Amino acid sequence: MKTVGHLINNRAVALADNTRTTPVYNPATGQASKKVALASTATVEEAIAAAEAAYPAWRNTPPQKRAAIMFRFKELLEKNAERIAEVVGEEHGKISHDAMGELQRGIECVEYACAAPELLKGEHSRNVGPGIDCWSEFQALGVVTGITPFNFPAMVPLWMYPMAIVCGNTFVLKPSERNPSSAMLVAELLHEAGLPAGVLNVVNGDKEAVDVLLRDERVKAVSFVGSTPIAEYIYTTANANGKRCQALGGAKNHAIVMPDADMDNAVNQLLGAAFGSSGERCMALSVAVAVGDAAADALISKMSVAMQPLKVGAYSDSSNDFGPVITRQHQEKVVGFIDSAEQDGAKIVVDGRNPKIEGFEDGFFVGATLIDGVTTNMESYKQEIFGPVLQVVRVNSMDEAMQMINDHEYGNGTCIFTRDGEAARYFSDNIQVGMVGINVPLPVPVAYHSFGGWKRSLFGDLHAYGPDAVRFYTKRKTITQRWPSSGVREGVDFSFPA
Ligand code: NAD
Repeated sequence: MKTVGHLINNRAVALADNTRTTPVYNPATGQASKKVALASTATVEEAIAAAEAAYPAWRNTPPQKRAAIMFRFKELLEKNAERIAEVVGEEHGKISHDAMGELQRGIECVEYACAAPELLKGEHSRNVGPGIDCWSEFQALGVVTGITPFNFPAMVPLWMYPMAIVCGNTFVLKPSERNPSSAMLVAELLHEAGLPAGVLNVVNGDKEAVDVLLRDERVKAVSFVGSTPIAEYIYTTANANGKRCQALGGAKNHAIVMPDADMDNAVNQLLGAAFGSSGERCMALSVAVAVGDAAADALISKMSVAMQPLKVGAYSDSSNDFGPVITRQHQEKVVGFIDSAEQDGAKIVVDGRNPKIEGFEDGFFVGATLIDGVTTNMESYKQEIFGPVLQVVRVNSMDEAMQMINDHEYGNGTCIFTRDGEAARYFSDNIQVGMVGINVPLPVPVAYHSFGGWKRSLFGDLHAYGPDAVRFYTKRKTITQRWPSSGVREGVDFSFPA
């Protein structure tokens, strides 16, 4: 069985006989297709040392030369898109067209990184005082790291290292150990595009590897995307070790369905946003908050009909709508949440427990599930389910719906379906959520904005990719300069000039 290793200094690391490994599953078949090495402390330290050695030359490489590599990288990603999507499908389970879409969002982040010479120009003020000029530069930090989740194995690393690298940093990536191969393949393509050895290193691993990255003083900043308990641990540990950190966490995204909404459109949008990628998206809409019983009844009856033709199956059949969840344990967890909603008195309108997928009987599948009558005290409402489950909560007013969203611990994404512009404006002004959609179910910001939630969906100040990434991966230096025409200026000032 093949073992996925590490890429350090643009070389595959030879694995020792006693290297710890863990299986990588094909979630559609339920079989382990390969293993992944779990880096030891020494291996992670080797990667950090490679990144540190590459830093001085890379920092001094002109931004347009760094960007030129990103242009070639973009071309290689496009040329190899089907190959990458295939690897994502095999290890994650998402259908090929969805994997291609994920990759496209990552490529857009590479395109943004191509603008480095423009983005790094800084700020300049002439004559801030007599003969005095002042400017701010955005200088690289040094070695930075990214720790990424399983659910977007190709895209989330591309949120991070193209911008970090193009800003002059060197990088150590620790992808999810559940589906490591696409990150390895994409990193190889970046080297094919001309990246010098040591600028990007990939170590696979688990907590042992992450803890080295969090504690090693050579690492200056940490970008993390994953679940909230781990995000909080990463943020507090990185901070305690003097590092800059952005840690994006979990979500529970609500969509308000107003009585005036175009219900057919809302149902269509909710279908894709709740069940696409098996609900394993941090922007998945997992709760529909229907305002008034008439809206709730219409939503439930149309949704339960629209869900009937949904096709669940393996990634390689592009007629499927979504695939399996990531592991057997996760499948059991999702089913457990459906059970608990039922025990708490909610009504399972469409039941996706125990789907029969011909030819893939051992796969980690959960069918699309619709639950009515969910209330805020239920555990299945409070927690992120991260599966193909849409919960419906009934409320009497828009204010009640908004209060519910604002009271939830997560604040990643949200959406309102309405025809009322005033209501939509009130919603976007007052909702305590970082990414807001108005009749847009998955308001994932484009690559030239930045991505991030509020409350316990993000620990830190700066969001991922886009303009915030320039600020996150650089530190500001402000220089004030005077060149007196008559040489060294005479006289001493003991006070600030009035
Ligand atoms: P996870 O938190 O289990 O793992 C994320 C990363 O952390 C992995 O690389 C993993 O190896 C590492 N890790 C896990 N346990 C650790 C520990 N104890 N100590 C140190 N490192 C550890 O998340 P996941 O299951 O891979 O991904 C799904 C989660 O990610 C969901 O909660 C989802 O909402 C969230 N997510 C959030 C965003 C966002 O932008 N906010 C985007 C994608 C996914």
